Amino acid sequence: MNRTVVGVDIGNSTTEASVATIGPSGSVGYVGAALTQTTGIKGTVKNVDGVAKCVAWALEGAGIALADLDVVLLNEATPVISGMAMETITETIITESTMIGHDPRTPGGRGLGVGTIIAFESLADAEPGVAVIVLVPNGVDFEVVAAAFNAAGERGVEVSGAVLCNDDAVLVANRLRTTIPIVDEVSRIDAVPLGMLAAVEVAGPGQSIRTLSNAYGLATIFDLDPEQTKVVSPVARALTGNRSAVVVRTPSGDVADRTVPAGSLELIGMNRRAAVDVSRGAAEIMAAVQRVSPLSDVLGESGTNTGGMISNVRQSMADLSNHALADVRIQDLLAVDTVVPQEVRGGVAGEVALENAVALAAMVRTKETGMRAVAAAVAERLRDAGAHRVEVIVGGVEAEMAVLGALTTPGTDKPLVVLDLGGGSTDAAVIQTNGQIEATHLAGAGDLVSKLIDAELGLDNLELAEEIKRCPLGKAESFFHVRLENGTAQFFDTALPATAFARVVTLSEHGMNPIPTRHSLDRIRTVRRTAKERVFVVNALRALRSIAPAGDLRQIGFVVLLGGCALDFEIPDQIADAVAPYGIVCGTGNVRGTEGPRNAVASGLVASYAMSIQGDAMSTQGDAMSIQGDKVAPPDGAVPGGVGAHV
Ligand code: ADP
Ligand code: MG
Repeated sequence: MNRTVVGVDIGNSTTEASVATIGPSGSVGYVGAALTQTTGIKGTVKNVDGVAKCVAWALEGAGIALADLDVVLLNEATPVISGMAMETITETIITESTMIGHDPRTPGGRGLGVGTIIAFESLADAEPGVAVIVLVPNGVDFEVVAAAFNAAGERGVEVSGAVLCNDDAVLVANRLRTTIPIVDEVSRIDAVPLGMLAAVEVAGPGQSIRTLSNAYGLATIFDLDPEQTKVVSPVARALTGNRSAVVVRTPSGDVADRTVPAGSLELIGMNRRAAVDVSRGAAEIMAAVQRVSPLSDVLGESGTNTGGMISNVRQSMADLSNHALADVRIQDLLAVDTVVPQEVRGGVAGEVALENAVALAAMVRTKETGMRAVAAAVAERLRDAGAHRVEVIVGGVEAEMAVLGALTTPGTDKPLVVLDLGGGSTDAAVIQTNGQIEATHLAGAGDLVSKLIDAELGLDNLELAEEIKRCPLGKAESFFHVRLENGTAQFFDTALPATAFARVVTLSEHGMNPIPTRHSLDRIRTVRRTAKERVFVVNALRALRSIAPAGDLRQIGFVVLLGGCALDFEIPDQIADAVAPYGIVCGTGNVRGTEGPRNAVASGLVASYAMSIQGDAMSTQGDAMSIQGDKVAPPDGAVPGGVGAHV
């Protein structure tokens, strides 16, 4: 009798189903597939909603009634979950308002002006022959400001620059007889000290300031000795790339660019231990991880930011998985260097400096998963919905199922490595010619890429970051054409939406979406691409090294990429480029020849179930699920997905 079987893979992000009809001899005919977002945390009973929906959709697509469903196969989810944290390791602090490096949308005038800071009210009393920088509070009309500046100029007072509280810089500049640099939108203008020497610089459109972003420029203006120049160099660094800036020299003012004492990580390996200071950056942390690997746990120095970060990961993992804190062990760690825009402490205009930070993704191993409870709940739900005779079985280790599914990709053969690029983890497995399978689970995947993009562009909007991750960019240069990020132009017959005009947009299948930031297309593209490289190229190489015979990548022949991030428009190419020097054939999987990189685990579950039936048919002894929980070693020569031919 034929059995209708659905394999279901509950992932951190996605639940996938694969429907097949299995003949009495174990022959498999795949008839449908579906996917939906995972509901709840993987391995918890909340998964039931997503599973039930996915199974129903998959059956519907195959034209099979729920009443005819015989078996649902769930993966034995790897008891690993991932968490992320980010910690800045540098900090720019301004004391006594020495710097205003903010980047108003529309500074006025241009050039460099140096003078003593005076309040607008005292401009009328200024002595002729003195160079001044005028602070204009809120509420003074631009006509009045311009008239006062022009009048002062006639009296011989040199107004060499201005700092406005409101947004009138261009309006004032247009009414002046001489061109001076004017910076506006300085919200806390009262915090700018009077009577001090200051410099204002505004660059032309499309350019950035030259003098105030140069340490020796500052030294020249403020007559600094080498020691003082060293002290102000962080100011110059913080202003780099701005179109405008103000620097005020105060006697005891100081800008400190300091390394935050972030604390250290203690890496506990199976055989040895190492301690590494987080502020040393990702490269050193990862070198230490490699030295002590395999990891059995990681501790953060208590009382430090690192300690807090690690205990947060551990605590949230414990909460999510319902485990005692002591049962949660970190078995892999990925550190990534990043820079995040942070408001400068002590700034007066919401100044932002790019601070160095380290992002950590941790992979946590828990004691066991709650998959049996999920299975019981799924059975109940499906029976209520009309699947009267369904049996729900938990079986098959994820990585092994992924390999079986990947082998249904045309053109693949054993030995084979699969890299499953998911949301929370990068999983790798290798199947040897003799069918032996080995797997590894690494922290850091698609979610970390989105998080890096979000942090580096200062978006504070993970959905937008996700969209930037997935879509190529363009810039609407006119109402009828978009310049694509590869330099070519795309023309349209109907006018583009006005909201897209002159903006950087994402080009998704649903159309174009303006990105509400001031970053240039190039900057967004660079952030996007390097985030992917720092996570996936690094992890691909780590994964391959850990499963390659003797760590030698040249021993690996074929790599098949699976999972949601294998659908990305550039990640597979980045990985292929990185492994090409080792002679590795690397490409995106095409499960069953139709499903692309999706559905491997779900299809693998079906294939392994079919093999067990095939085994029974041959042994004539009926112990249908002898395969569960064991290593699945396919009978030599068996091709999952086409098993019938071998009986
Ligand atoms: P899991 O197995 O952990 O449930 P998936 O295999 O579904 O995870 O992968 C989820 C990741 O794949 C997410 O980071 C998501 O952003 C990414 N992803 C999903 N679809 C696409 C796509 N079409 N293009 C690029 N990335 C995608
Ligand atoms: Mg997955």
